[in-house]
Amino acid sequence: MPEQSTSQPQPALSVQPTPVPSNTPVAVPLLLVASLLLFAAHCYRAGHIGLAACSVVWSAAVQLRSAWMRPVSFFALLGIAAEWFATCNEFMQIRMFTGEPWLRLVLILCAVAALTLGTALLIGLGPGKTWFGKREKHANRQCMAFALVLLCMLPVCLKIPHMLLAERLVPGTGPLQTLLAALWAALVCGWLSNRALTHKRRLLVWRLFSAVFFGQFALACLGFDLFAMTGTLHIPVPGVVVAGAVYRGEPGFMLLLFAATILLLGPAWCSHLCYFGSWDAAAADARAFGHSARKRSQAPRKGQKSLLLHPVYFRLGMLGLATGCALALKLSGAPLSLAMGCAILLGLLLLPCALFWSRRYGQACYCTLLCPLGLVACLAGRLALWRVRRTQDCTQCGACIRVCRYKALDMDRIRSGAPGLSCVLCRDCINACPHQGMELVWAKRRWHGHAEGLFVSLASALHACFLFLAMV
Ligand code: SF4
Ligand code: SF4
Ligand code: SF4
Repeated sequence: MPEQSTSQPQPALSVQPTPVPSNTPVAVPLLLVASLLLFAAHCYRAGHIGLAACSVVWSAAVQLRSAWMRPVSFFALLGIAAEWFATCNEFMQIRMFTGEPWLRLVLILCAVAALTLGTALLIGLGPGKTWFGKREKHANRQCMAFALVLLCMLPVCLKIPHMLLAERLVPGTGPLQTLLAALWAALVCGWLSNRALTHKRRLLVWRLFSAVFFGQFALACLGFDLFAMTGTLHIPVPGVVVAGAVYRGEPGFMLLLFAATILLLGPAWCSHLCYFGSWDAAAADARAFGHSARKRSQAPRKGQKSLLLHPVYFRLGMLGLATGCALALKLSGAPLSLAMGCAILLGLLLLPCALFWSRRYGQACYCTLLCPLGLVACLAGRLALWRVRRTQDCTQCGACIRVCRYKALDMDRIRSGAPGLSCVLCRDCINACPHQGMELVWAKRRWHGHAEGLFVSLASALHACFLFLAMV
């Protein structure tokens, strides 16, 4: 007897709209947006267009519902409520002084302040937690990145607003640039915390910064002074930062910025922040991995080409050459134009050659062999106490050697438990290891994983500050 099919006719496949969970608190977004837009109107009326724009942008941003936005929204609403109460008090005093009726105005302003305060409390309690329920895993470090950027950029916005491009384009919009920088930092922090995304996204945001930097430099060279932060152009070649200081006889802004970054993040300047290094890393990456996750997880092939020169000696030679030349130029009283010519030669002629070799060997040749500042970063960066080290889970499979573009890893190094001096804390080996065989530590400890979180927050915040502030 033929077997009878029991299957029922299936309905045609159709895309069903994602049902909204019945417990989604609708009141939270409505009250939040209403509070923010009311405050935007108040700021606009008072002539603070930057703050008004910030409120509008934040009311749109919270629709992402990311968990890190909850504490930010909570504290922002508390501040706004305080501002409403202060405004209410101020208007009441003025009206009482001038003998005008004030009760109705005070009631309206108190109602708005109470609405804002109530919304803040709602966000601080369960409904807020449900609404801001997305991407909870790295919310703390994203919050920290956001706060760090505010901490760095708010004093600039208040005290020296002309350093912000937005202020120079449209006076009064500095707060908006500050908020966008903080939002970008939190976003980047989320990307860099995601093991699957961090390699590509780090290179992407690093290249973005480099493109913006050189774009502004080009515009400033073409005579658009608006894009020159200091009004004085300098040679944007990191390799001559130390030599330039020797020639001038004073450290200069770039060297101080470099030193501050190194103290905070160690040699991560060379894997997250330098406007030259991103192109070298991109060239090395194109050869080594071809953007293929499959290739990245493989162990190195036998006979794979590698540079034979020992990078440290070569870099020491380059550092000596650059500083020696700068000293000779200074002592001989050579004109500034000659010194600048040498700097341009080092940067603009060596870089294309190095990019060729980086692409060929799959290693960042300019950074690991030629750039004197890279060696200074790796040596001085030891002061910052950030280290990559092997864990007991390492199986010595060697897969991480392939992803290191800075010649910091080989089997001897893996056995010894730590990468070599040229490690720039890019964390590619940590993220590529399938066994959690590498980790980032501070002062030799993981601090229950918080060390890496702090590192990522700091790196994201500094990147955002550089992107939104760094102009030639
Ligand atoms: S080695 Fe030099 S060029 Fe490379 S990232 Fe570091 S400072 Fe920049
Ligand atoms: S750290 Fe990971 S990838 Fe590297 S050798 Fe050990 S187990 Fe392999
Ligand atoms: S050892 Fe790891 S963290 Fe250090 S440069 Fe190499 S891949 Fe990056």
